[in-house]
Amino acid sequence: MKFDSIIIGGGVAGLSCAIRCAEAGLKTAVIAAGQSALHFSSGSIDVLSNLPSGQAVSHPFDAFDALAEQSPHHPYAKLGNKACREAIDWYQGMMEDCGVYLSAQADEQNHYRVTPMGTFRSTWLSQQTVHQFPAHQLSDGLASIALVTLDGFRDFQPQLAADNLARLPAFADVSIKTATVQLPDFDEMPRNPCEFRSIDISRVLRDETKLHAFAKRLIQAVGKADLVVLPAIFGNGDGAATIKLLEGLTGFKICELPTMPPSLLGIRLEEAMKSHYKKLGGLLLTGDEVKGGDIENGKLCRIYTRNHEDIALSAEHFLIATGSFFSKGLSAERHQINEPIFGLDMVEPAHRDHWYQPQFFSKQSHPFMKMGVTCNTDLNPSIAGSTISNLFCAGAILAHYDPVQEGSGSGVAISTGYYVAQQIIRAQQHSTEHETTASELTAAL
Ligand SMILES: Cc1cc2nc3c(=O)[nH]c(=O)nc-3n(C[C@H](O)[C@H](O)[C@H](O)COP(=O)(O)OP(=O)(O)OC[C@H]3O[C@@H](n4cnc5c(N)ncnc54)[C@H](O)[C@@H]3O)c2cc1C
Repeated sequence: MKFDSIIIGGGVAGLSCAIRCAEAGLKTAVIAAGQSALHFSSGSIDVLSNLPSGQAVSHPFDAFDALAEQSPHHPYAKLGNKACREAIDWYQGMMEDCGVYLSAQADEQNHYRVTPMGTFRSTWLSQQTVHQFPAHQLSDGLASIALVTLDGFRDFQPQLAADNLARLPAFADVSIKTATVQLPDFDEMPRNPCEFRSIDISRVLRDETKLHAFAKRLIQAVGKADLVVLPAIFGNGDGAATIKLLEGLTGFKICELPTMPPSLLGIRLEEAMKSHYKKLGGLLLTGDEVKGGDIENGKLCRIYTRNHEDIALSAEHFLIATGSFFSKGLSAERHQINEPIFGLDMVEPAHRDHWYQPQFFSKQSHPFMKMGVTCNTDLNPSIAGSTISNLFCAGAILAHYDPVQEGSGSGVAISTGYYVAQQIIRAQQHSTEHETTASELTAAL
């Protein structure tokens, strides 16, 4: 099977590249072995919240020069401010076309989202059902908040969140209450707490009769509040619509808060991207795994997968976006780190004793977080020092950045995925023009 572009990995980096390629009319295939990191994410898009030095960033796109100075090999330093901004704006527009509305603050500052612990994390884009707490005054416009959970639900403990919120000076004058609501038909549901997760609750609340009953209980439990905060327990694709309906039934302003995995807010992004990609005509091979490939004359010619052992897949261009250790895009042995599919060159790891900070909750990055595949400025990797010109890397497999400490995870994944797609599209257009000119010349002779 022959494609224009083959993308290895179905996370936000791989899917961003695949969608952009498919939009440009390229015959594209995505091979995704398993769940992506989106199933664990807040569903907000972090661009840059902290510099590597630990200094907080308020305006992410204005901080690129400082970032490049501190971390010259950082993926953002390779792409530059303009290309990253273009990629993030493209992503926002593309998701809007899919019905997922992501927005930033009008003043171009990061905003804060509240976590299930009642702490705040800075981010760039949040979904329409997530309350954006502005940096200048976290509690702006709020005199009362209600933190609500469901009876028997273990993944959000509102009292803990309320205690932490109450400690913040910005919330000194805000009334914070907690409440527990019983899910309709709770008595008939399985009593094993492992089976009472956000995704199970979302299935119950998709039924409108049960949503109406839930709305009544919510009104009784909360009374009055400027903002009602609920864990993300509303459907994958239709979550935002369900919340709108619930707001209409209760008269409350309701916001969602990401929970322990499975995170419905993250899954919502993945589902929307996958379905958009398929509508564009892209091929998605899920549950398959790329095992290796043939490299000839500095180019990757074909790859082999677990399910299509003897049928090689070939393409003009390839992207590897298999994620970090978490998604098995990188693997660690006792004294070295590997990229398991092709054995791509890695950033030289220091001695094992220097892979991590002595304190787990250190403000400094754990060095292993910045390990990964090393690339040139076009994001081409190499093997034993030889560049592979038609293979690109994007997302968490890349070295030289720490998505957790910097708060840059989805931002790097989207911008590198998009940047690679733009290069593939240009190369493809160039080769088509070349072929056309050659055939015109032949015809003229
Ligand atoms: C717990 C957690 C929470 C996070 N929260 C946030 C957040 O709130 N906001 C934010 O901006 N960022 C967040 N991040 C960071 C961000 O989610 C990641 O940096 C980003 O999603 C990485 O995307 P990716 O596409 O590079 O990799 P992944 O999402 O890891 O996807 C890799 C894909 O490759 C597939 N794969 C691996 N090996 C193979 C193979 N051999 N063949 C085929 N497929 C393969 C995997 O199955 C997976 O589908 C979080 C990360 C984690 C781990």
